[in-house]
Amino acid sequence: MLRFFAVYGNPIAHSLSPLLHNATYAHLGIGAYYGRILLTDGKSLKESFLSHHLSGANITIPFKEYAYDLCDEVCGIAKEIGACNTWVSVDDTIKGYNTDAEGFYECIKDYGVKSALIIGAGGSAKAVALILKAHNIATTLLNRSKTKLEFFTQRGFNCFLSDEFSVEGSYDLVINTTSAGLNDNLLPCSEEILRDIFNQASYAFDLIYGKVTPFLSLAKDYHLTCSDGRDMLIYQAALAFKLFLPSLHLQAQDIASLMRRVLL
Ligand code: NDP
Repeated sequence: MLRFFAVYGNPIAHSLSPLLHNATYAHLGIGAYYGRILLTDGKSLKESFLSHHLSGANITIPFKEYAYDLCDEVCGIAKEIGACNTWVSVDDTIKGYNTDAEGFYECIKDYGVKSALIIGAGGSAKAVALILKAHNIATTLLNRSKTKLEFFTQRGFNCFLSDEFSVEGSYDLVINTTSAGLNDNLLPCSEEILRDIFNQASYAFDLIYGKVTPFLSLAKDYHLTCSDGRDMLIYQAALAFKLFLPSLHLQAQDIASLMRRVLL
């Protein structure tokens, strides 16, 4: 029986998820197809999922909170994050997961970091902060405006406004979760602050993928080990793949290796 999967978002034309999943199905000889669906109203997510008879889906910007609210059961760290990027249909119920968090952690787990600074306080920062906290990594947040920091303050994170921040401690890992550098040449906070931070850090990670952002470019000047968001994208997809097709008993690492080859 052919199984159907899809990614929902707006915009969605640029998404690499269909390529990653379909090429992996083809490689493994699995009878499945993964499409992309442009959604204009998040409230219609569940109706669309059910009417397309999907076995599973990924949900991306700006519908992850809808995916959290509309599924029948929220599983794992998605409960704390308040956002789901993966839905799986199980016995006529929809289970919601967040594989962004674990996907990010897979990328940095071998670094052995003890402290991290996250720049940005949006949806992806929630996933990154909560998975770091789950692994006992002391995490501080920096954002240009106050409102989105409240989520993190309420959960006990050290939070600062970029304008009011002065570097006192040091951070092993610095993560850009903002969209600064995505379609422009901006840094996520002042160059002066970043220089002070990079001077004492070991690793820089930018969630943006496919380009060397000004953030990563500056980090390279300080000889930090730098990563863009490509591996996070691959791991979140591999973890979703594993949830979609559990009977295959594949390891996420093996799926990720396959997907990495596809992307190259
Ligand atoms: P959100 O819109 O939820 O949050 C964006 C955050 O970035 C906010 O805190 C915002 O600050 C801040 N911000 C935006 N522009 C600037 C700027 N010019 N300077 C400083 N701060 C800025 O976005 P997401 O968290 O969902 O996504 C953020 C990025 O992460 C995107 O580029 C996305 O593509 C990438 N991403 C990559 C993934 C991967 O697998 N590699 C997975 C998920 C996301 P404010 O609160 O003041 O508005």
